[in-house]
Amino acid sequence: MFDKIVIANRGEIALRILRACRELGVKTVAVHSDVDRDLKHVRLADEAVCIGPPASTDSYLNIPAIISAAEVTDAEAIHPGYGFLSENADFSEKVSQSGFTFIGPKAETIRLMGDKISAKKSMQEANIPCVPGNGDPLGSDNATNLKMAQEIGYPVIIKAAGGGGGRGMRTVHTEAALVNAITMTKAEAGTAFGNSTVYMEKFLEDPRHIEFQVLADNHGNAIHLGERDCSMQRRHQKVVEEAPAPGITDEERNRMGALCAKACIDIGYRGAGTFEFLYEKGEFFFIEMNTRVQVEHPVTEMITGFDIVKEQLRVAAGEPLSVTQDQITFTGHAIECRLNAEDAVTFMPSPGRIEQFHMPGGPGIRCETHIYNGYTVPPYYDSMIGKLIAHGDDRSSAIARMKTALSEMVIDGIKSNIALQQDIMSDSGFAQGSQNIHYLEKKLGLSK
Ligand code: ADP
Repeated sequence: MFDKIVIANRGEIALRILRACRELGVKTVAVHSDVDRDLKHVRLADEAVCIGPPASTDSYLNIPAIISAAEVTDAEAIHPGYGFLSENADFSEKVSQSGFTFIGPKAETIRLMGDKISAKKSMQEANIPCVPGNGDPLGSDNATNLKMAQEIGYPVIIKAAGGGGGRGMRTVHTEAALVNAITMTKAEAGTAFGNSTVYMEKFLEDPRHIEFQVLADNHGNAIHLGERDCSMQRRHQKVVEEAPAPGITDEERNRMGALCAKACIDIGYRGAGTFEFLYEKGEFFFIEMNTRVQVEHPVTEMITGFDIVKEQLRVAAGEPLSVTQDQITFTGHAIECRLNAEDAVTFMPSPGRIEQFHMPGGPGIRCETHIYNGYTVPPYYDSMIGKLIAHGDDRSSAIARMKTALSEMVIDGIKSNIALQQDIMSDSGFAQGSQNIHYLEKKLGLSK
């Protein structure tokens, strides 16, 4: 195991990584921007290095500064967390070239999965079900493109190969709109991502979002930890996640999970990852792979009793996976509510000083947050301030525990989305389960 690592992130995930390190006896270096000196993990870390001013581009995205911090503290590895540089292939490469271990997949794997076209191609080769549409780059011949759309059937979606964060996509409902949509998406993609390559696939109208957690090592082993349902979304941002996904049978879980684990071996994957699918009318359609730990990993940890972050560290240190597939079992149901510093109605970010914070507790409750009384949420970063996770014997007891926990939780001084989460937990449609990705926006009156 490593002696010391750098945690190249902030907030709740940095604290989560620090806790895993402490359990494994690994020393930690927190790298932080100059407004982040009071972050909980910065205070708890063995060492802390300020890597720049508040703007992420000058600090958490500043590759030379992070690598220098690893050099001056004599660390062995760098954990990127999620967001920031976690899916940046150049970062992974530079970390390795500088003699450190990147806690995540190889740069070439990040690159392969970071381009939507190469990702789709490699998944098709691995027999992972993909959204209808061959995934080839669209040329400039209108007749060919129109024919393709006709074969797929409208509506179709034009997606930029280099797109991300829900940008670089355009839905087309009629033949009349196709040619112009392709031209526009190409132009936008060229400007936004420096790559104007686009492709076409079927637009699924009312899918659920279901994703599979995988782990792979450097010794040719890969396992899956089942699936999560993340269909409660607003503007493509997940708001509530749960595991298992309502209505998915053991048979489907085992079949899809095994396919994902096998695909990891095919692409030479290592570390923790997630295969994201749209799920409609009983079928899975691959949309992307996230080559990092995800915000919602705790729901999987709660139903499997397996620590994903500790396993990331072990695998990166060269150890084989600590469990085999048949040792993974699923118990009960877990739900995660994301906690954001924002107005529960307008969604406007609400940074500021936390005057009072009371953390809920009780059986099956887990609170992942870096906030504390007197902590000031800075305005420069994502508004997520933590996550509340409830585990129960079944879905309804997990919901009941979540409601109790939310009712106990106090966050004063800033606005939070606790009221929104309470509203969702009391919603009859949510109680039914299996809602699609448009459900929350419709409920909030944000879309038809
Ligand atoms: P990004 O990398 O930008 O997050 P994704 O491919 O993961 O792009 O897609 C983001 C979101 O866009 C999905 O969660 C889904 O809501 C929507 N989307 C993408 N592809 C399709 C599709 N073929 N049909 C319907 N919705 C889609």
